[in-house]
Amino acid sequence: MRRTWHSGTLDATYHLPSSLLRKHTNLLGKSCNTDDPLPKVDIDASPDTFSDFVDWLYRGPEVIRIYRLPYDVNSYRHLWELADRLQAEELRNQMLDNLQNLPFDDNFISILRSFGIARMGTTALVDYVCDKLAYEIVEKGWAQFIQVGGKSWDDMMRTPIYCAPLTKRVMEKLDGAYILKEQGTLEDPATQMTCKWHEHTKKSKLECPRYQPEPPRKKAKAVAAEWIQLDDASE
Ligand SMILES: [Zn+2]
Repeated sequence: MRRTWHSGTLDATYHLPSSLLRKHTNLLGKSCNTDDPLPKVDIDASPDTFSDFVDWLYRGPEVIRIYRLPYDVNSYRHLWELADRLQAEELRNQMLDNLQNLPFDDNFISILRSFGIARMGTTALVDYVCDKLAYEIVEKGWAQFIQVGGKSWDDMMRTPIYCAPLTKRVMEKLDGAYILKEQGTLEDPATQMTCKWHEHTKKSKLECPRYQPEPPRKKAKAVAAEWIQLDDASE
């Protein structure tokens, strides 16, 4: 079966198999029963962005890898925002996985600028970028980081609307990273093949190939008891 969606006020109409939409989105999928009237969905995206989304439905992560950052960073953000509106969490998670494969350079600063500082922390992708920034600073030092961030970082720090929220967010991440470093557990975010920055429902989390169940609580209690015992012995 096929259904039709319109993309904004521009002349772009797509005919899509409802099974494909049901599989890869929550919003469209739920309204795609054969007896339902034709659903109306506010796409609010450019035909180019929606075309990329349709391409992804058919071809998967290969489409995301074609984006060239930072040149395509705004297109990347538009696709992310569309995926958010369509509740296509699988697409968002794949876009984040793709970011983990990119080398750390000033692209990451461009991403922060494009995704908007005002929304910082509310987007998993921005959260990942800030974690990566903090890791690079703690592990390699500010001098190396400034060298990599270069003019892009300098420009952002000189711009009041970016500087304050960016500094606050990065400092929060740095605090956490320094603690992990002291504990010897700081890991490069790019190598963490987990669901840490994924967005999931309870069901989809269990189905994610990256999902790792949390260690059983009993183990944590045993460790705590051990510490108490050691403290007692030292008195
Ligand atoms: Zn996941």
